Amino acid sequence: MKVPQLDLRAQFDSIREEVMEAVSEVFESQYFILGPNVQNFEKEAAEFLGAADCVGVSSGSDALRIALAVHDVGPGDEVLLPSFTFFATAGAVVHQGAKPVFVDIDEDYLMDLGDAWRRRSSKAKAVIPVHLYGLQAPMESLIAWARDWGLTVIEDAAQSFGARRAEGASGAMGDAGAVSFFPSKNLGGAGDGGLIAFRDPEKAARARSYRMHGESRRYHHEEVGVNGRLDALQAAVLRVKMRHLDKWNLQRREVAARYESLFAASSVAEFVKRPNHPEGGEHVFHQYTIRVPRRDPLITHLQEREVGCGVYYPVPLHKQNCFAGLPGLPTSLPVCEKLAEEVLSLPIYPELSDDQQSFVVECIEDFYA
Ligand SMILES: *Cc1c(COP(=O)(O)O)cnc(C)c1O
Repeated sequence: MKVPQLDLRAQFDSIREEVMEAVSEVFESQYFILGPNVQNFEKEAAEFLGAADCVGVSSGSDALRIALAVHDVGPGDEVLLPSFTFFATAGAVVHQGAKPVFVDIDEDYLMDLGDAWRRRSSKAKAVIPVHLYGLQAPMESLIAWARDWGLTVIEDAAQSFGARRAEGASGAMGDAGAVSFFPSKNLGGAGDGGLIAFRDPEKAARARSYRMHGESRRYHHEEVGVNGRLDALQAAVLRVKMRHLDKWNLQRREVAARYESLFAASSVAEFVKRPNHPEGGEHVFHQYTIRVPRRDPLITHLQEREVGCGVYYPVPLHKQNCFAGLPGLPTSLPVCEKLAEEVLSLPIYPELSDDQQSFVVECIEDFYA
């Protein structure tokens, strides 16, 4: 039995007609840049998230960068962020001319607020909590802490679109939230795309101009922005897919619950650490990530059995070559470094079958037998 880590084809098959109709409407209209699909998608996303306004942009990476720019984060500023995240979280900070301050994480893979508190200096301007693997970070405590210090909160919600609970949606609780529609994300487009959710409509208006080279009206520029728009074709596809997202996220939670019960009853129950689903945060399981001893030989064993898996992320950001020599770089962030050697993400997507999941767990049992 083959178990891919992700199977986008299964999802496309279930919505093929809706998607192809939306795409063909865009071609018939020949309206490729902004226009009604982007406007409507922004409106629908703002309703979905409960955000004041949303701005479609070219990728999750650009969403982070533009969110920082319109909050005036730049040279001389420091930005606190977890060292255990996708590279773009830090890349955006550096592209703005600001300095990333790498913070350790906790056992739920979220930024350790105590460590952030210790590393904060008077130059700190913003903080970027990352809802890693789809788990909503506990935003109330973080926002209260950030308010005390006058820090802007930019959520990196690239992996957690659709995670929401009574207090608010992932991406719509901070000052701004950056979302990615990279095809493998929970809401994936047909290429690159992203979104910024805002609590302040004026900041959203600035972002809308910033993604068009800072234009206020045609050929009149208020500031130097970027070309960072969401394509109309992407917006058309995303509008279709967003209507299915709650169902897909529910199915991901069901897959995660099934892994949990399979592992709990397995011979490896004692030492395979499964994800927590702590109070105070909804989980949309972008990844189902376990922690295991002897991870790398296990990966080889799974590959030989055609079971897909991945490591997110093998090298924490404070250990990346490009940041060597950064002033104040932490010499050690012990939890990040330990977890980087132990984490393993297993196949998860809404259409994954019970038999496939049982096979994944059996293969892991075999390895440790
Ligand atoms: C995917 C991702 C991004 C970047 O999104 P792109 O659309 O690929 O630019 C940023 N942060 C995290 C945590 C991500 O997973």
